Amino acid sequence: MKIYVLIPKQVLVISVIILLMVMGSLYLVFIRKENVLPVNSNHMGANKLEERIQSITKNQEKIAFLTFDDGPNRNVTPKVLDILEQNDIKATFFVIGKYVGNYPEIVKRAYEEGHYIANHSYSHNNTFLYKNDESFIKEIQKTDEAIAKAIGKVDYHSYLFRFPNGYMAPLHKVEKERCARLLTNMQYTYIDWNCLNNDSMKKYNKMQLLENLKKSAKNKNVLVILMHDTKDVSDSSEVLQDSIDYLKAQGYIFKNFYDL
Ligand SMILES: [Zn+2]
Repeated sequence: MKIYVLIPKQVLVISVIILLMVMGSLYLVFIRKENVLPVNSNHMGANKLEERIQSITKNQEKIAFLTFDDGPNRNVTPKVLDILEQNDIKATFFVIGKYVGNYPEIVKRAYEEGHYIANHSYSHNNTFLYKNDESFIKEIQKTDEAIAKAIGKVDYHSYLFRFPNGYMAPLHKVEKERCARLLTNMQYTYIDWNCLNNDSMKKYNKMQLLENLKKSAKNKNVLVILMHDTKDVSDSSEVLQDSIDYLKAQGYIFKNFYDL
């Protein structure tokens, strides 16, 4: 029987090899895992999201999805976030890319508080948006890049887009049909709304905004509610608490699109 005796040099070499193997395994388990996982584990990818969104209104439960377009805005968005926080409600923000760059800390706060940060184009300008395919793609990518930078998540993919003025609006119908196919290729889905308080019509006061919401919500189980967090239109943050109270009294629970 042969007995192998290790000399100090061999012990050192074997120790280094073992150390490298251990470090390699740790790298694979901890570091690579971070990179191969979706950016946000709440995200389920566009395909599943699209399926769920298409059947969203078939749900028999009373669910309200609060959605805020056209922010972030320095004056309105923090107020909206405060009210949502006080009510423990997670909403969805369809942000405009160029404003994300102006107020990244607001977007970061919204994201960290559990709200869905979705894409509403970079410029919100139909001329740029529908100029050609390349231009549309750039508008989407630049917006998600701005969100990624604001929230500190590299490669953030929002998966969810809302067309400025909505897909259902007759304006730019042909272009929107073409861009909807581009969105699918880019792993996005889009959503409009089925309920609104008409805050984008500047003439409404607080009471009227609430009345508009009540009328629009009537006889619907699932509400995807369009509001805006900008000063350019009637200020929905002024009527948000009353709107939440009304919806709660009607038996609605609140969700965002991470919950689908
Ligand atoms: Zn908009």
